[in-house]
Parts: sequence; C-alpha cells; structure tokens
Amino acid sequence: MNIVLMGPPGAGKGTQAVRIAETYGIPHISTGDIFRAAVKAGTALGAELQRYMSQGQLVPDDITIRIVHERLQQPDCAAGFLLDGFPRTIEQAVALDKTLESNPIDVVLSIEVPDEELIRRLTGRRVCQGCGATYHVDFNPPKTEGICDKCGKELQQRADDTIATVRNRLEVYNRQTEPLISYYREQGKLVSIDGSQAIDKVFQDIACHLEARQ
Ligand code: ADP
Ligand code: ADP
Ligand code: ZN
Repeated sequence: MNIVLMGPPGAGKGTQAVRIAETYGIPHISTGDIFRAAVKAGTALGAELQRYMSQGQLVPDDITIRIVHERLQQPDCAAGFLLDGFPRTIEQAVALDKTLESNPIDVVLSIEVPDEELIRRLTGRRVCQGCGATYHVDFNPPKTEGICDKCGKELQQRADDTIATVRNRLEVYNRQTEPLISYYREQGKLVSIDGSQAIDKVFQDIACHLEARQ
C-alpha cells in the first residue's frame, strides 16, 4: 500500500509513522528527517535547507520534489511506502502523482488536532540524538528524564520547536498545506483521523482504516 500521512506540525505523524511502518513492513519516508540528516552532514545543500527550516518556512518545491523522487526509485519502495510530511503543497502533490503514474497513492491519512494542543506537543517534544525516537516531556516521557529508552543516548529539543517558529509553522501549514485536504478528498483518498486521542488509540483507528482497505 502507498500511504501519505498528513497533518499539522505536532499532530503525531512521526509517532504514528514508526508504528505503521513496523506493522505493515513498509519504509517510512520523512522529508523532515531526510533534510535534518543533510543539515547534520554539513553539506552545501544542508546549509541551504537550514535557512528555511530554522525560520519554519517550507523548503522550495524543486529541491523537495527531486529528493522524494530519488527516494521513491529505491527498490524498497516497490511494495509500498509511507510518506510523512510530503507532500506539503499542491505543486508537490501534483509532482508526486506524476512520479507514481501507474502505482498511485492509495490512501491519505489526515491527522487532526486543535492548534492549542499542537503548541503544547511541539514545545514539549524531545528527540533522541542516537536513534531519532520521539518523546514528550509530559505526554510520552522516557523512563529516565533526558535519556532515550531504546538506545540510552541523550534527548534534545529540535531547534525549530521554539514558540515563535512553531507559530510560523502552523501558519505555513494553514496557508500552504491545508489546501491538500480538498485535493485528496476530491480524489476520494482522504481519511480523517482524530489525532487528539491517546497515541495507542490513534494508531488503533489508523490500523482499522488500513485493514478495511486491504
Ligand atoms: P513536523 O514534524 O513538525 O511536521 P517536519 O520534521 O516534517 O516537521 O519538517 C521540518 C521542516 O522541514 C519543515 O518546517 C520544513 O522547513 C521542512 N520540510 C519538511 N517536509 C517538507 C516538504 N514536504 N516541503 C517543504 N519543506 C519541508
Ligand atoms: P509530527 O511528526 O506530526 O510533527 P510527532 O509525532 O513528532 O508529530 O509528535 C509531536 C509531539 O507530540 C511529540 O513530542 C510526541 O511524543 C507527542 N505526541 C504524539 N502523538 C501524541 C498523542 N496522541 N497524544 C499526546 N502527545 C502526542
Ligand atoms: Zn535513542
């Protein structure tokens, strides 16, 4: 199955993506993760990406589309994939449809959460520097404060999870990404998920929808 996970920053896309990928055995492709890896690697491209990401602005469509196009050509995507955080503009969605041609997107899961809750989630988010696992200081805390349960490395706050950048990212979502909801509804692919529930319950709802489609 080819799946797109949509939703505002902090909706729980990454958290659910890890579970979906594991349960259904498909690769989890997060443009945010790919971009952060490039920034960390210190390449020229990474330096350019960081300028947009640190402001909470979208990376230009041409760069983003090229990177996803290359990733989808890898053999592990042949039997299905899970896109997390892509597409984020109509232009990206149109390019994706073109890239996929005869092997189109099957379903778009739109995780919905009210803005006040998103701000609490993003400002309390902590990410493992070793394995990338995501926690929340209140809603999903590690067993030992500041330390990853899975690999024992240190947890950190993302540079763009500050209140000012978060507000900007939510605005960017409403302006540039939300129009995609109608785009996919018109294609008959949209499934809305109540993302304000507990992590396990959100996953149950997602699994229920995916199993009904298989
Ligand atoms: P979140 O988990 O908060 O939704 P991501 O990790 O998906 O954030 O993305 C972090 C940043 O990476 C975004 O604010 C944006 O700058 C950039 N980015 C990620 N995906 C895309 C995309 N599809 N198009 C443009 N920029 C993107
Ligand atoms: P996204 O990838 O959409 O930006 P994340 O999966 O990184 O979102 O989740 C954002 C923050 O909210 C993280 O700190 C995560 O632990 C927490 N979180 C995710 N899902 C839930 C949930 N259903 N209830 C409470 N907190 C959640
Ligand atoms: Zn870890």
